[in-house]
Amino acid sequence: MKSTFFIAIVFLFTACNAQTKKTNSVAGKKFTVTKTDEEWKKQLSPLAFNVTRKEGTEQAFTGKYWDNHEKGIYSCICCGQELFSSDTKFESGTGWPSFYQPLNKTCLVDESDNTFGMDRTKVTCSRCGAHLGHVFDDGPKPTGLRYCMNSASLNFTKK
Ligand SMILES: [Zn+2]
Repeated sequence: MKSTFFIAIVFLFTACNAQTKKTNSVAGKKFTVTKTDEEWKKQLSPLAFNVTRKEGTEQAFTGKYWDNHEKGIYSCICCGQELFSSDTKFESGTGWPSFYQPLNKTCLVDESDNTFGMDRTKVTCSRCGAHLGHVFDDGPKPTGLRYCMNSASLNFTKK
């Protein structure tokens, strides 16, 4: 009896472990799209992998979209969820594509980030947990927000 109980506990423990390995989470949130690093690496460029899965930042003025003025939709490079419209893109002068508002409230997850002693908020795709950039409160009207994104984490579709 005792040993059956022990085996059950071990089984439960390993089952939980196997699950957490494949689950991305930001502040305990579960994402619909989850892949291992190996799977993401196959799908993404080395830069996009570093930015979206390892919270890297591309160099200012080097990305594809900071100076893109075409009309269209920016979506997540990892899972394709639509995130921003060119209608809310503005010239921030930072060298990163900047928006004052996402397409809707549910497509992003914000999380406070105090790394490097900076008080800023990380922005993550709500569907796959991709790191996209940061949001600051020095943006233009009407929201006063500045979503500072990495081109490498976005995919632009002309509309
Ligand atoms: Zn995504």
